[in-house]
Amino acid sequence: MKSGETSKAQPKLRAPDQERLRSELNDYMLKRGLRSTEQRRLIIDTFFDAHEHITIDSLLKLVRAVDARVGYATVYRTMKLLSESGVVQEHKFGDGFTRYELSDDDAHHDHLVCLECGKIIEFEEPQIEQLQEKIAKRHGFLVRAHKHEMYGLCSDCQKPKGQRSARSEGRGARS
Ligand SMILES: [Zn+2]
Ligand SMILES: [Zn+2]
Repeated sequence: MKSGETSKAQPKLRAPDQERLRSELNDYMLKRGLRSTEQRRLIIDTFFDAHEHITIDSLLKLVRAVDARVGYATVYRTMKLLSESGVVQEHKFGDGFTRYELSDDDAHHDHLVCLECGKIIEFEEPQIEQLQEKIAKRHGFLVRAHKHEMYGLCSDCQKPKGQRSARSEGRGARS
C-alpha cells in the first residue's frame, strides 16, 4: 500500500454465527424429515470448519481424508440441501466452479474476484447496502437477497510478472 494512501483500516468482517446457522439447519432437516446420517454429519462438520468459498472438490478431499468411502454425489447432495435450507450460499464466480459459504444475513459481505489468480476478496460496505435498499424502495421491490460482485485484477496481479508474490504466480490457467 502506498504511504500517501488514505485508506481507512478495513473494518473486520463479521463472522457468520455458526451456532445459530447450525440450529437453523437442524430445524430445517427435522421439518423435512431428513435423517442426519453419519456421512452427512461428517460433510456438514467439515464444511463448517473449512474456510469460505470452498468448492465441492476441495470439500470432498477434506471429507475423504476422514472417511474414504464418501462419494462426490453425497457431498454434492448435502451441499444442495444446505443451500436449500438457506444456511449456505452458492456462488458462481465465473471460473466454472460453484463455491459455497455460510450465509448469515447479519454478517453479509460482497466480493471482489481476481480474474488472473482467482483470489476472492470480501468486503462489507454499509453505503452500498443502503443504496441498494433505496433503489429497491424506489421500485417498490422487496429484496430477499442480493449479490454484488466485481471482477478484475487484484493489486498483486497488476504488477509486472516478476514482482508478484509467489501466491499469485501461475494460477492463471483454469484446471
Ligand atoms: Zn490476482
Ligand atoms: Zn464470501
